[in-house]
Amino acid sequence: MAWYHESASEPKHFDFLRRQMDAFNNAGGTICEMNSWDYPEESEQLKKSAKNQLIVANRKLNRHDKEHEHCGWCEDCSEWHPYCDTAIKNQNVSQGIQHMIFATKNPSFIAKNKDGLYCAGLTYLTPEDKMLAKNQNLYELSFKNTNGIDIKGLGSNGKLPGAATALEMCVAKKAAQLGVNAGGLALEGSYGYHKAIGRKLRWPGSDGGYSVMKSVWTKKQCQDIASLGLV
Ligand SMILES: [Zn+2]
Ligand SMILES: [Zn+2]
Repeated sequence: MAWYHESASEPKHFDFLRRQMDAFNNAGGTICEMNSWDYPEESEQLKKSAKNQLIVANRKLNRHDKEHEHCGWCEDCSEWHPYCDTAIKNQNVSQGIQHMIFATKNPSFIAKNKDGLYCAGLTYLTPEDKMLAKNQNLYELSFKNTNGIDIKGLGSNGKLPGAATALEMCVAKKAAQLGVNAGGLALEGSYGYHKAIGRKLRWPGSDGGYSVMKSVWTKKQCQDIASLGLV
């Protein structure tokens, strides 16, 4: 398939990665690698932190719904109105934090801000993880986007600039170490971001009714990104 051909990132992609990483470092962000099977306690603490953040985010959502009656589904008009920017931002934050809860489950990379607050998480499965999952008939773990590292989930609370990109680059580095490609799914609305980091996008067919694309860095791209030495 043409999509899996080795192809390189362009200089503009590297520039984007560097800028994101600068922002992350300037904000005092740190990354740790976590395997919840090795560190269940750390995993529980991260989950607890994300759940607390979700409570705050959902409180904001509820407050908005009370204050902006003609925003989203409207009882008065019996119709949908377009969401305002605040509503969209609140929804994104809430959704990002839900993904952060999920990101504490599996082998993952975790980003914290300078105060040690859990701000972004990314879960992935290596080819070996997928093989183990398949052997144990863990179907939910055996789904496959690439023949290399599958990114299963990425969530951010939006409070640490560059955090998501820093975690994506950790995946590229791991893929380079293993000599494989890496990728996941791109949700509608995030295609621009995936292209900016140099991902190849492709329709996988419909996935549960959502508009998603497969988003992959080739093995060569992972090696090139790793050799930037940014993470
Ligand atoms: Zn209305
Ligand atoms: Zn609104």
